[in-house]
Amino acid sequence: MTAKIIDGKAFAADVRARVAKHVARVKDESGITPGLAVVLVGEDPASQVYVRSKGTMTVETGMNSYEHKLNADTAEADLLALIDKLNGDPAVHGILVQLPLPGHLNEDLVINSIDPAKDVDGFHISNVGLLGTGQKSMVPCTPLGCLMMLRDHHGSLSGLDAVVIGRSNIVGKPMAQLLIKDSCTVTVAHSRTKDLPGTVRRADIVVAAVGRPQMVPGDWIKPGATVIDVGINRIEAPERGTKEDGSVKTRLVGDVDFDSCAAVAGAITPVPGGVGPMTIACLLANTLTACCRANGLEEPQGLTA
Ligand code: NAD
Repeated sequence: MTAKIIDGKAFAADVRARVAKHVARVKDESGITPGLAVVLVGEDPASQVYVRSKGTMTVETGMNSYEHKLNADTAEADLLALIDKLNGDPAVHGILVQLPLPGHLNEDLVINSIDPAKDVDGFHISNVGLLGTGQKSMVPCTPLGCLMMLRDHHGSLSGLDAVVIGRSNIVGKPMAQLLIKDSCTVTVAHSRTKDLPGTVRRADIVVAAVGRPQMVPGDWIKPGATVIDVGINRIEAPERGTKEDGSVKTRLVGDVDFDSCAAVAGAITPVPGGVGPMTIACLLANTLTACCRANGLEEPQGLTA
């Protein structure tokens, strides 16, 4: 079997177009422009790139983007004061604090100081609890993007066996909650799972969110299964030659070995171009959803769980 490649880039472009259309309607009917505030503490280069592209895409969909860049040594009290100000700002409907934060800042405290209604990352303890009890919440962007692609491919997920590899608060756990909500039978595997190959082999849906390059080989995959690869890992790629400084060039790979898995799976997401683009698209969708909920406006259809 050769798997269908799920094109996350095209899917994300479609989600952004749907967001933009609904944003235009919101502006037209209410005069309100949805706004997303992104807070970046420190100069981590990868975080700077993420924040820049989030800002660009926010504006491209017709929403307002507010960027707050703080020094790496910012005091916790100052960061909390900024979040408090954004919580009270009616022009801001979504607040995202870019993670990871510098070590002296308490991430849990910071995230839980965001108004849950503006918590577009879905990491606030209230949203985690709402999702876990099957109630309306803000849903973490990466698992939401995975869910959208799975629903699009399968239609109904009801009764399917799903294995999520990884139990992080950001991906693994909320992914499992979303799949349970869609009536899958869910197994969460992790670093202490005894028979990972045997566990994965039973799955109709495999979501890999581990952070270990190409760790899932094709012979772990049940023929015809759907494989969603969340991992983003940079590995050396000697076949691409060397950089000017003599070091070996690199490339991005996922947590699954794409070629061997694609030979067995029914459908698979590539890295790059799979889950990654969906994450930002879902952030925009969440910002729009938060704005609609805050103002009693009709929510966009099909853009949340
Ligand atoms: P994490 O480090 O917080 O969690 C990794 C999980 O993998 C842990 O629960 C751990 O138990 C499990 N694990 C580790 N080794 C294992 C093993 N040998 N066998 C089975 N399970 C094992 O990571 P995370 O934040 O959940 O991210 C996972 C990956 O997804 C990373 O590569 C990250 O870069 C990527 N990611 C991508 C996006 C995106 O937008 N595409 C978003 C978030 C994270």
